[in-house]
Amino acid sequence: AHLDAITRLNPALNAYITTLPAQDVLAAADAADARYAAGNPGLMDGLPIGIKDLFCTKGVRTTAASKILADFVPPYESTVTANLLREGAVFLGKTNLDEFAMGSANMSSAFGPATNPWQKASDPSVALVPGGSSGGSSAAVAAGLALAATGTDTGGSIRQPAAYCGIVGLKPTYGRCSRWGVIAYASSLDQAGPMTRSVADAGLMLQAMAGFDERDSTSSNRPVPAFHEAVGKSVKGLRVGIPAEYRAPGLPAEIQAMWDQGIAWLKDAGCEVVDVSLPHTRYGLTSYYIIAPAECSSNLARYDGIRFGTRVDAPSLDGVYEASRAAGFGPEVRNRILMGTYVLSAGYYDAYYLKAQKVRTLIRRDFEQAFENVDVLLTPTAPSAAFAQGENMNDPVQMYLNDIFTVPASLAGVPALSVPVGLDGAGLPLGLQVIGRHFDEETVLSIGGALE
Ligand code: GLN
Repeated sequence: AHLDAITRLNPALNAYITTLPAQDVLAAADAADARYAAGNPGLMDGLPIGIKDLFCTKGVRTTAASKILADFVPPYESTVTANLLREGAVFLGKTNLDEFAMGSANMSSAFGPATNPWQKASDPSVALVPGGSSGGSSAAVAAGLALAATGTDTGGSIRQPAAYCGIVGLKPTYGRCSRWGVIAYASSLDQAGPMTRSVADAGLMLQAMAGFDERDSTSSNRPVPAFHEAVGKSVKGLRVGIPAEYRAPGLPAEIQAMWDQGIAWLKDAGCEVVDVSLPHTRYGLTSYYIIAPAECSSNLARYDGIRFGTRVDAPSLDGVYEASRAAGFGPEVRNRILMGTYVLSAGYYDAYYLKAQKVRTLIRRDFEQAFENVDVLLTPTAPSAAFAQGENMNDPVQMYLNDIFTVPASLAGVPALSVPVGLDGAGLPLGLQVIGRHFDEETVLSIGGALE
């Protein structure tokens, strides 16, 4: 059924950059079936999923939605995808994203934008963005082109597209899932996670993805619980914080109303709702947009046309670097490399990068203090519903503002879940975000289950 849906709908949605041959998919499903029948079940036997095209998959082209990796076939499998295969998951293909995961609309993909399967009731002819950067994954899951998909989240790339497409997205605690074999954007922020149709599915898939990996020095060796068992558990007596600073002045009334609705549901379920303050929230976006490009400029230095990826020949070595990078990187990636190189350069390092790192520490402390008092925080996932393709394109700052509610949890490294909670007046899905303590995905999922 999923293969049929891909044939029918992918031409319009462009959710997959690469699909696997149907006979390979069916053979993998048969193998999972046989293993299950032999009494040796995995957590995800036969479940057909999409893989964001940022995870290296052995023998399957992995592009990061960039021209510079358009023909790159990794000789190895990322740890997260290897874990999923070990648990019996069946891969359908590699999903679309913003180039190198830099973006919030899936508009910067070298393979063309992915489209949101949802449409405005009043004007179905306007194509909407599925969010980004994991927009191919969110579109695929929402439209039934996959039962679930992997995403990666550096500043919101799992949560915001999940909200825009009406699905569930979980950014786990930094260190929960190995980054080995995930093409790097900003290494101190990048985290893999599940994008699914239900909160319980997110728990199950996270269990399959997570775990210690000696090949990622920031990977955690904490035990991996059966996360899905937390879903459906009573949330009575849990303390839910509402951060005052997220009640931003221009927040649309519909989003405010959905947030109030979520608060009311949790009160009904027996939670205690209290006001909290995260005073450094307003510096989150600016410090994120210094730290992430800085790390990106360093990580993307490896694409030099010599070892792998696109090479454009030129008379000198410097010429090869220059021509290959000019041909391979799109405009947003170049923007980020320039910003990052600038903030790391000798005269500016202290004023920008070091300052941003200090602000990051203050933001992390804000969360630590709040979590002395409450078990989770509840906020909107994004300040709007999905917008039209092409909107916000000429104004990068407007585009970056989309990430205002998601970047603080990324800077702090804490887990955060987006749950679909309803539709706005135009008939488009809205999501609420549940943020939890480091490594306490279970409480986050319990609250998520109560909101679902
Ligand atoms: N929109 C943010 C950015 O462009 C987040 C992207 C992400 O989480 N990968 O950096």
